[in-house]
Amino acid sequence: MAMDYPELRLFIGGRWIGLDGRRGEPVYNPATGNVLAELPHATEADLDEALASAAAGFDRWRRTSPVERARVLQQTSARMLERRDQIAALITLELGKPIAEAKAEVEQAAGIFNWNAEEGRRAYGRVIPPRTQGAMQFAVREPLGPIAAFASWNAPAITPSRKISGALAAGCSVIIKASEETPATALAIAALLQESGLPDGVLNVVFGNPAEISAKLIGSPIIRGITFTGSTSVGKQLASLAVQGMKRMTLELGGHAPVVIFQDVDPEAVALSAVTAKYRNAGQVCTSPTRFYVHRSIHDRFVARFTELARAIKVGNGLDPATKMGPLANARRLEAMDRFLDDARSRQIAIPVGGKRIGGEGCFYSPTLIANVDEECLVSNVEPFGPIAATTAFDTAEDAIRLCNRLPFGLASYVMTNDMRNAGAMIDGIEAGNVIVNHWQASLPETPFGGYKDSGVGSEGGVEGLQAFQNIKYVSEHRPPS
Ligand code: NAD
Repeated sequence: MAMDYPELRLFIGGRWIGLDGRRGEPVYNPATGNVLAELPHATEADLDEALASAAAGFDRWRRTSPVERARVLQQTSARMLERRDQIAALITLELGKPIAEAKAEVEQAAGIFNWNAEEGRRAYGRVIPPRTQGAMQFAVREPLGPIAAFASWNAPAITPSRKISGALAAGCSVIIKASEETPATALAIAALLQESGLPDGVLNVVFGNPAEISAKLIGSPIIRGITFTGSTSVGKQLASLAVQGMKRMTLELGGHAPVVIFQDVDPEAVALSAVTAKYRNAGQVCTSPTRFYVHRSIHDRFVARFTELARAIKVGNGLDPATKMGPLANARRLEAMDRFLDDARSRQIAIPVGGKRIGGEGCFYSPTLIANVDEECLVSNVEPFGPIAATTAFDTAEDAIRLCNRLPFGLASYVMTNDMRNAGAMIDGIEAGNVIVNHWQASLPETPFGGYKDSGVGSEGGVEGLQAFQNIKYVSEHRPPS
C-alpha cells in the first residue's frame, strides 16, 4: 500500500465501513501499475442499510433550512480549498492527471459546492394571479427525494461534487456510487461533509459491481431520481431502469466534440490553445475537442503547428511537476486507443504525431493527431476519450455544420472565428448543449451543462442543475370569506 493513499471504506449512515470480510477489488496507480489499496464492495445488506439511511436522512434534511444546508456546503467548500494539495495528490495517484491539473480540479469542485450552497437558498417559487377573488395560487419547489448518483473516473472531484452538492442544496439525500477506479477522492469529499456537520445518512458512498448496484438502487422505491456520468451505452441501460420506476434522471454521456476553425483566424495561434485543451487529462474529458474541422485554406498550417506542439508535450508521472500529460486511466483506454490507430493505419491515413503506446510500466500513450480523416474512419464516428485529435478540411459553413451534426452526439462544440456571420451560423446550426466561441471553457459552476441527442438528458450546473433535483408543487387555496 502506498504511503499517502488512505484505507478505502464505504460510508453508510455516517459510519465508515472497511473490508471486514467483504469482497473487494484492487485500486491501481495507472502511472506505475502498482496497487494503491483494496476497495471494499458493498454487500446486499450494506445497500439495504444505505437505502434506509438515505430515506431517514432525507426526512431530516428536507426539513433543514436552506440557510443551514448552505452553511454545511460552504464549510465543505472552504475545507476542500484548505486541503487542496492532499486531495489533488489522491486524484493524481488514482487517475494519473498531472498534479497542477488535479489542484485546479479541486478548486473547481470547491467552486461548485459554493455555487450550490448559494443557489440552494434561492429556490424561489412563484405566485400566480388567481381567477377568483380571495384565492391564492402559487408554485413551490420541493426536494425530489433520495437520489442515486453514479460518477465516472475521469473527474474524480468535479463529477461527485456536482452531483452531491446539487442534490444536497436542493434538500435531497444521496447514495453515490463513485467510480471504483477513483474512490479515495469521493471518500475525501464525504469526510469533509461529515466534518462540516452533514447529518448521518444524508450522504452515503458505496462501491461494488456497477451493474448490480445500479439495478438495486434504481429498482428501490426509496430512490426518486438518478444522476449518471459515463458512457452513452451505460446511460441508456440506467435510463431504462429509471423509466420502470418513473424516476427523474440527469444523464451526462459521451461527447465527441467538434471544433470548427474558420479561415479568418490565425491557425498557428489556435493550434497553441487547441493542444493545451486537447491533451488536458490525456483527452479523457467528455468536452475534449476532438473532431477538428479546419477551413481548407489553413488546414495544413494548423496541422503542422499542432504536430510540433503535440510532439513537445512532456508525458510522465503526474506527480512530477514537469509532466504536462499523465498516463491514461487504465488498460481499457490503451486498448481503445490502439483500435483507433489500427483503423487509421489500415486506411493509410496520415498520423503526423504519436499513435503509439509509450512502453515500460504504466498506461502511457503518446499525444496523437490523425490528419485528413474521412467520414468512414473509426475516429470520425466514435469518441476516443483519450489523447487523439483528428482533422478534416472543410470548404463552407454549411459543410462544417453538416459535419458537426452528422453524429448522434451533441455535448460540447467549439468555433474559432472573428466573423460574426460565421459565429451566428454555427451558434444557430450546431446541435449541441454547448457552443463555445473563441475559447475552450465549456462549463462553470453557474452555467448549465448538458447534451443533445445521445449525449444525455437534462443539465448539471447552474440553476438548471439544481432544478433537476426538485419537484414543482402547485398550490391553490380558496380562503373562506371573513
Ligand atoms: P464504461 O461504460 O464501462 O463505464 C463508464 C462509467 O460508468 C464507469 O465509471 C463505470 O463504473 C460506470 N458503469 C458502468 N456500468 C455501469 C452500470 N451498469 N451502472 C452504473 N454505473 C456503471 O466505460 P469506461 O471504460 O469506464 O469509460 C469509457 C467510455 O465511457 C468512454 O468511451 C466515454 O465515452 C465514456 N465516459 C464518459 C464520461 C463523461 O464524462 N460523459 C466519463 C467517463 C467515461
